[in-house]
Amino acid sequence: MDEPPEDVAVALVDARKTYQLGEPVHALDGVTIDVPRGSYTAVMGPSGSGKSTLMNLVGCLDTPTDGRVFVDGEDVGAMSDRERTRLRGEEVGFVFQTFNLMPRLTAVENVALPLVFQGVSREERHERAADILGRVGLGDRLEHAPNELSGGQRQRVAIARALVNDPAILLADEPTGNLDSETGANILDLFDELKAEGNTLVMVTHERDVAERADRIVHLLDGTVERVESVADQVGRQHEAQAGEEHDDAQTGEDGGEGA
Ligand code: ADP
Ligand code: MG
Repeated sequence: MDEPPEDVAVALVDARKTYQLGEPVHALDGVTIDVPRGSYTAVMGPSGSGKSTLMNLVGCLDTPTDGRVFVDGEDVGAMSDRERTRLRGEEVGFVFQTFNLMPRLTAVENVALPLVFQGVSREERHERAADILGRVGLGDRLEHAPNELSGGQRQRVAIARALVNDPAILLADEPTGNLDSETGANILDLFDELKAEGNTLVMVTHERDVAERADRIVHLLDGTVERVESVADQVGRQHEAQAGEEHDDAQTGEDGGEGA
């Protein structure tokens, strides 16, 4: 099996994940997708369709039972646990629905934490963490503990931490799920900026209007890709036109929701 081209951040080639529970459960049943560098992909699908399994494979938390998963050109299934942990630490940023920050650490310490395990010097850790917190709009909150920050600010700290390694890919599982709509909108604006800066994003969401912020929507059903929908053409220009303005209007076609 050939490696994917250099401009592909993540590739799945007929990837399968089967759990043996008496009867086999085909959580992923042959998924083939490329995630180009600099692209923004949303993943939708009903509960049990394989979204988390897919994210775990892409995030090097798990290996396929069959097929291939390439992250930054490396074949995840062919690696030792140690190599996979290294690849995950260097090339994958995770943002979860719950912020799971360290409560005793300040914002800047939380963001710097992944660098501790990579032998980066204390000064450089602080510098890089402070820099990225500035980029997510929290340059004036470096020394705040999580309980001194709003939900949206905590989520931005979590995103900063996911980005501090300059990962090949940023993975977000329902990143706005626990946020009020205004704060969620700010996080989605931040993702737009990250995409504009060239980051590669994959986001699981149940919400149609959230998914439409991405370039394309991968619809999963029963562990397979039901279809890949391109949204950039339909709504990309609309968002460009709205950039810098309020976006509480002009969202046409609100009827296509999947319902959670
Ligand atoms: P989603 O995130 O879309 O809700 P999942 O990827 O979590 O779906 O799960 C897909 C299928 O795999 C489901 O049928 C689920 O019950 C099953 N599954 C997921 N993880 C495990 C596991 N660790 N052991 C056994 N079955 C699992
Ligand atoms: Mg899930």
